[in-house]
Amino acid sequence: MTTRGRFAPSPTGPLHLGSLVAAVGSYLHARHAGGQWLVRIEDLDPPRTVPGAAEDILHTLEAFGFHWDEPVIYQSQRTDAYEQAFQYLKDQGLVYPCACTRSELQALPANQDGLSEELHYPGTCRHKPIRESESYAWRFRVPNESIHFIDGIQGEQRMNLNESIGDFVIKRRDGLFAYQLAVVVDDAAQHISEVVRGVDLLSNTPRQIALQRALQLPTPDYAHLPLAVDRHGNKLSKSTHAAALTLDQPTATLWQVLQLLHQDPPTALQQEHIHALWQWAIEHWNHNRLNHIQHIMLNNALNY
Ligand code: GLU
Repeated sequence: MTTRGRFAPSPTGPLHLGSLVAAVGSYLHARHAGGQWLVRIEDLDPPRTVPGAAEDILHTLEAFGFHWDEPVIYQSQRTDAYEQAFQYLKDQGLVYPCACTRSELQALPANQDGLSEELHYPGTCRHKPIRESESYAWRFRVPNESIHFIDGIQGEQRMNLNESIGDFVIKRRDGLFAYQLAVVVDDAAQHISEVVRGVDLLSNTPRQIALQRALQLPTPDYAHLPLAVDRHGNKLSKSTHAAALTLDQPTATLWQVLQLLHQDPPTALQQEHIHALWQWAIEHWNHNRLNHIQHIMLNNALNY
């Protein structure tokens, strides 16, 4: 089977160094294996979508010399596929409506698993009939079993969703499908065999695996890259370092990203055309250098 990887940005702003790290990691992982690489724009949530951001991201990727093998897919155009998956889960009795309000949910204790800061939903609406007049979300009934997988970078992972997160929303009160459902449907539709993304998404993976099982879809391999943080430990996208990338020195920036990814690119390649640097990086990609690393600190010497 051909290796197929993907980069799936949400168009909430321009590409920044942190998201470039995820794009580069997923690209090198797929290309090193001689595989294909796709781009999917996750514009699932219109209120969060910034006009022009998708075009801007694609333009930046092009300027850095990325090539994608198939036309870009937009989640805003995939509602029918998500609806079909949702109906399937509904027919199986695996979803139920939940009318809990935001303030009721906020009063819940945080889960204890240490992996995520999300709340544990105790299943309040599992057996509660909903009144027609109420507005409600739909939750997926999580299995009460340990979900186990080996992450290519972060190692062995295990989570019992019933104990840690509880039943989670797959269709929101406003009618929009949630990221968890969309990502699972799209990764399967695009035949993605390797999901390489930031470690901030690691705790989502057991939920996605549970949905894949319920929908009888294959589970790809997962590898979660360390997150680029500033000196204060803040995720780049949330800090002042999250400025849009400048495109005037793409080779120097890519070189720095490779350095952040512990690939030790030869200094001489900084002066070469970006294609030479890509060629070196694809040939030498070694994700084992990142084993168990969760954070990569951006030092001040880096400029981008
Ligand atoms: N769209 C998500 C984000 O930008 C990434 C989803 C994924 O890679 O699974 O954070």
